[in-house]
Parts: sequence; structure tokens; C-alpha cells
Amino acid sequence: MNPNRLERIVIIGGGTAGWMAAAALSRYLGHGNTDICLIESDEIGTIGVGEATIPPIRTFNGLLGIDESDFLRATRGTYKLGIEFVDWGRVGHRYFHPFGRYGRDIAGIDFHQLYLREQTRRSLPSIENFCMSAMAAKAGRFSQPAPTPEHPEYEFNYAYHFDASLYAAYLRRYSEHLGVRRLEGKVVDVVLDPVSGFVQAVQVAGAHRIEGELRIAFCVERSTSYDRNSFDHRGERSHDEVRDAHQSFDPDRCQGCASLDDDHRPKPGV
Ligand SMILES: Cc1cc2nc3c(=O)[nH]c(=O)nc-3n(C[C@H](O)[C@H](O)[C@H](O)COP(=O)(O)OP(=O)(O)OC[C@H]3O[C@@H](n4cnc5c(N)ncnc54)[C@H](O)[C@@H]3O)c2cc1C
Repeated sequence: MNPNRLERIVIIGGGTAGWMAAAALSRYLGHGNTDICLIESDEIGTIGVGEATIPPIRTFNGLLGIDESDFLRATRGTYKLGIEFVDWGRVGHRYFHPFGRYGRDIAGIDFHQLYLREQTRRSLPSIENFCMSAMAAKAGRFSQPAPTPEHPEYEFNYAYHFDASLYAAYLRRYSEHLGVRRLEGKVVDVVLDPVSGFVQAVQVAGAHRIEGELRIAFCVERSTSYDRNSFDHRGERSHDEVRDAHQSFDPDRCQGCASLDDDHRPKPGV
């Protein structure tokens, strides 16, 4: 019997962050030994805006064993080959950050180093021309990367753009199937251990205290100015609005952290 084994995990918040944590923990710690409880408030709801991702999301979904087609259907997702930054460095400037590599390394030297050296000798086409993801994006094309390095498509990489609320709902189904318990309610207080100062339990309105050895909070107290209705038709906000929202946000009310009580901290040499 391992005395450091986690028996109860409490996750606060059921947006993408909370359900991603629940899915990963239930996949790898579940097996009926660890009780995982996720608390979320329907009254507060989730932010639920469109989610542009980067390629590690594929690794995450892969670790969960999620079928890509099923996931894309459920989240109304699409493939994404890079990120375009418009007016980023200066007005009129654009930069496309492709997912995937530029060209091929030669004798251990990165392609972009060779490109930059060659550029000092003669004029070269844009480096985008040497990137499969950039060129496919420009042409509005997509294919799965080749499985082996002999093919240029091997260097190709991608991510997704999907509906964040649907992703959270998808991972909720996944997690509940693996035994995660969902508790609807608003966390109104946290109980701290008088000695260590770590969070010992959380108090849910109208319910009992929920205790656990590991508590992870993914809930952010949103100011009223951070309301999704204040987004413009593109779902974007001005720099001033974002700055104001951050300034009115009280960090003491955000527990974007995990706390583990002393008995369950890794011990030196263990
Ligand atoms: C305009 C905009 C565009 C964005 N675009 C992108 C993007 O392209 N790519 C990207 O990766 N990210 C993007 N983000 C950020 C991303 O959407 C958010 O970081 C992410 O969706 C937040 O998920 P979350 O689970 O942390 O929070 P939320 O979805 O807000 O979920 C919070 C959860 O906590 C619960 N909760 C809160 N308080 C309590 C309480 N007291 N008791 C109980 N439960 C509580 C809520 O009920 C909810 O379940 C964008 C954000 C905005 C505003």
C-alpha cells in the first residue's frame, strides 16, 4: 500500500481547462483507485469562445486515445496549419507562423541557418516557400503528415480550431465515462490548513465541504467587463479592453494553481 497514493482529487472549474485536467487524470490515475470530483457552476458558466490551438493539442488528445474524426465532428472543429499575425511588427506587415519545419537540416545544421547565410549572398524567395504547412495553408489544402521522413510531408504539422464549449462537453463525456463525478455548485469559500496554509477543502454553496488531497482550481473570477457580450462581432477585444479587464482582475481571487497537502508531496529519495 503506497501511503502517498492520491485517493481524492478535487477539480474546480469545468471549462476546457478543468475538463482537460479531469480527462487526463481519469485516464492515467483512475482505475477505480482515485476518486475525482469536478465542481462547476452553471450559474457562472464558461467563457466558451472559439479555441485556436497549437500542435501539442494533438499529443494531448493522443494521450487520451481520442479518435480524431470523432473529436472534430463533436467539436465542429477544423484543421489549422499556422497563425497569421497581421499588422504585428508594424501596420501593413504580416507574418505567417506555420506549424511544422522549414526545409531540411543539412549535416545537423538547421535549414533556417543555411537559408540566412545564403541570403547574404543572393536574393532568395521567402522562407515560407520551404515550409509545407505554410504552402498548404496558402493553397487552402490539407493532408495528414507522411508517417516516415523520406517524404517531404513528414515535416508537416497541424493543430485545430474548434468550439471550446463543445470540447469541454466532449471531455466531460469522456471523463464521466471513466468515473469522474461532476458536482454542480458554486465554490464560496476555501478552508486552509492552519499549519501548512494549503487548501484543505472547498465549501460549495448549499452543500458540504469537499475535501481532497490534491485540489486544482481552473476557475477565474471574471469581472463584469470581461463579459463575452462585450466582444465585437469577430469575438475579439481591443488592447484597451483586455488591459482594463486584467487590471480589474484580483489575483487573490484566482486559484490557478494546484495544491497538494504535505502527506502527499513527493518525499526526497522517494
Ligand atoms: C476573445 C477570446 C479569445 C480567445 N481565443 C483563444 C484561442 O484562440 N486559443 C486559446 O487557447 N485560448 C483562447 N482564449 C482563452 C481561452 O478561451 C480561455 O483561456 C479558456 O477557454 C478558458 O477556459 P477555462 O476552463 O480556464 O475557463 P472557463 O471556460 O471560464 O471555465 C471556468 C469554469 O470555472 C467555473 N467556476 C468559476 N468560478 C467558480 C466558482 N466560484 N465555483 C464553481 N465553479 C466556478 C465555471 O463555472 C466554469 O466551469 C480566448 C479568450 C478570449 C476571451
